[in-house]
Amino acid sequence: MKNMEFYDRLRTVPEEAKKPISAGRLRGFTDINPMWRIKALTELFGPCGIGWWYKITDKRMEGSGDELRAFVDIELYYVWEGKTSQPVVGTGGSSFLTMEKNGTYTSDECYKMALTDALSVAAKNLGVAADVYYAKDRDKYTTTDPEPRQIQQAPKPAPKPEMPPPPENPPGPREASDGYYYCDSCNQIINGFKDKNGTVWTPRDIVAASIAKYGGRQLCVACARNESKA
Ligand SMILES: [Zn+2]
Repeated sequence: MKNMEFYDRLRTVPEEAKKPISAGRLRGFTDINPMWRIKALTELFGPCGIGWWYKITDKRMEGSGDELRAFVDIELYYVWEGKTSQPVVGTGGSSFLTMEKNGTYTSDECYKMALTDALSVAAKNLGVAADVYYAKDRDKYTTTDPEPRQIQQAPKPAPKPEMPPPPENPPGPREASDGYYYCDSCNQIINGFKDKNGTVWTPRDIVAASIAKYGGRQLCVACARNESKA
């Protein structure tokens, strides 16, 4: 087998499986239909469970900073020329804020999305959708890591001399077209968090509290804290 055989056969994503992300922090990136990935693996290796399969090796909920995220680790296996591969590992994450659209948080949905993500990460090692990932030299998953986001952060605006007067009719929570709430100050997605009493705040809770407290402005937890200190 040639070294690039899988990679070359899995790298190209058909146009119909690609969806440009047109709003929010991931604007300009491409969403890949998860079902295409399954089809690509099945075409090459055979049906899931026979030609390829995965095992979930861990699932956990982690808070990092003000965020609460579900993580799933998997091992992907495939059979090639009668031999079962070594595990191809992948870790996927999903922020529970993505569940916030319907006002309820279900960890089940979160884990499902983290699993899809984990499969995309493992499959990427075989070259699945390589052209999409390589073209941008980074991908949707890596941009959600804290480090690149730091780099993307806009410089902090100079502190305003005084607070603008609250609008007469404070606006309600403003949800962007991608379903997220964005901070008026730092433009980052507002994530849910768990406070020190263990109470879980959904992004919508945070936005509602911020609007009430900061004259109609929707602020992330970090910016709201800075605001209180100032
Ligand atoms: Zn902010």
